[in-house]
Amino acid sequence: ARIIDPGGDAEDRRFDAALRPRRLADIAGQPRVKDQLSLVLEAARRRGVPPDHMLMSGPPGLGKTTLAMIIAAELEVPIRITSGPAIQHAGDLAAILSSLAEGEVLFVDEIHRMARPAEEMLYLAMEDFRVDVIVGKGPGATAIPLELPPFTVVGATTRSGLLPAPLRDRFGFTAHLDYYPASDLAQILTRNTVLLDVDSTRQGIEEISGRSRGTPRIANRLLRRVRDYAQVHGEGVVDLSAARAALELFDVDARGLDRLDRAVLEALCRRFDGGPVGLSTLAVAVGEEPDTVETVSEPYLVREGYMVRTPRGRAASMMAWEHLGLVAPPGTPG
Ligand code: ADP
Repeated sequence: ARIIDPGGDAEDRRFDAALRPRRLADIAGQPRVKDQLSLVLEAARRRGVPPDHMLMSGPPGLGKTTLAMIIAAELEVPIRITSGPAIQHAGDLAAILSSLAEGEVLFVDEIHRMARPAEEMLYLAMEDFRVDVIVGKGPGATAIPLELPPFTVVGATTRSGLLPAPLRDRFGFTAHLDYYPASDLAQILTRNTVLLDVDSTRQGIEEISGRSRGTPRIANRLLRRVRDYAQVHGEGVVDLSAARAALELFDVDARGLDRLDRAVLEALCRRFDGGPVGLSTLAVAVGEEPDTVETVSEPYLVREGYMVRTPRGRAASMMAWEHLGLVAPPGTPG
């Protein structure tokens, strides 16, 4: 796995318990989402009813699971955690729904990956707080309606566009999470060095924040590697020189690009004169599957403006040439 992979791995999960903020007030960044959420939660609290179902939408590693847990903590209710891929049969979901306590938060991660029949059961349950439990098989099967106590579904999705409209419409509130500016990541990292009991300097923290691709999960992972480096080669302080040396060791450059990202840009500029070039040709040039280039490297390069997608293929922008220290040919897109 790449060190700048925004998806979680086993080590991330081990640290999550220690590093996850527990309250809305502990969340850094995302001021809009925080304000919206605190309003929705406060209103529900005053009315004494569970809040509307809520959808957390945004790229991996930005805090969707963290927010779901915070919602439950702020409401002082238990949380049940499941995921779309884990619910492949309506029966799986019926078992969960029928055991929910009143007011409980049901967190469904990757909710866009639920099986169709379960999806239908979920949106009926969200609307009417009822499930139809099917008893028996074949022509003799009967549906027995089962009333559920009111509860709150918190869904998380990286692809809200993939949610079927009837399901999307059942959410009263959607939080759109965005990439974090480096200053917010620095705030998160500063808090986490305290939690991990490591000393740091402001420059050390800023060096890590600037290379973390706007993603708290990546920032936390890079922090752990810099801490390792500082403990093995230095005095244990997360400072500028430890950050630079560790991130060079792990091939994360000053802008958060890794070996594959740079290989893609190098190929685009040096071999194909900046493009445009088709995805599969580009993939062959860097020795990767087209799918890997498209899903792993390209989104960040495009988002940051290093690469542009044109109808005739991928092209390097002015920023790509500059990043590689090369002179861009005339006509290079801005
Ligand atoms: P997602 O569910 O969107 O993939 P998570 O909620 O699992 O992301 O967050 C990934 C990690 O990043 C968590 O361990 C959490 O500690 C940290 N994190 C995410 N958002 C924030 C935030 N706003 N402030 C502090 N830490 C955060």
